[in-house]
Amino acid sequence: MVHVTCQSYIGGYYSRGEAMRARNDAPVDTRGGGYTTDDGYQFELTGGSLCLDFANTLDSRPTEAPRELLSDYRHLVDWAMQAEALSPAVTRRLLASAASEPARARVVLGRARALRESVFQVFSAHARGARIPQGALDALNRAVSGALARLRLAKDSDGFRWEWKEDQALDRMLWSVARSAGELLTSDRLGQVRVCAAPDCDWLFLDTSRNGSRRWCDMRVCGNRSKVRRYRAARR
Ligand SMILES: [Zn+2]
Repeated sequence: MVHVTCQSYIGGYYSRGEAMRARNDAPVDTRGGGYTTDDGYQFELTGGSLCLDFANTLDSRPTEAPRELLSDYRHLVDWAMQAEALSPAVTRRLLASAASEPARARVVLGRARALRESVFQVFSAHARGARIPQGALDALNRAVSGALARLRLAKDSDGFRWEWKEDQALDRMLWSVARSAGELLTSDRLGQVRVCAAPDCDWLFLDTSRNGSRRWCDMRVCGNRSKVRRYRAARR
């Protein structure tokens, strides 16, 4: 089932499924998170963990033309809202702050992309059984320290909860990403982290299948393309 709506190309974006369909005619589907942004883009949240979904905001990384899905601060906020790392109310406040402080928002966007690469390098190296790049782990550690310094305990009606101090900071969503990365790295789910098997995709995901045999970030996109390739090769 293919969903094509007037929303699928707005504001210079194709969704990933649309872009792939435009590229190679494969019968792929669009994928999406829980919400559509104002300019019509839905991030594809197939990683199974916030930090892995964040690593997946650079598409086609192993190709000569990786596609940047965070091309301005607004997209970073949109991603965080779709991934439920920000509430709609905080999202609106961050966008208003970014509009009045565009230079600071650009700095945060640069830091977000750097954190994304650290997350990707550490998890992909582990998933591939390769040596963990020390520089990436150091950078991730700095982000984790900064994030945890912002955590505090708050009283609930029937107990306590973690909450973030300075909830309105422009880099607020990066604290959630860093915390998610730290928690996943130290959990027994780390062994489930995989890199997509498609040659032009290295999205990360948690393989929670019973026999640990999931190969694709999304069967409907990368898995389907692989099937089409095998079908064409068999007909040659
Ligand atoms: Zn993939």
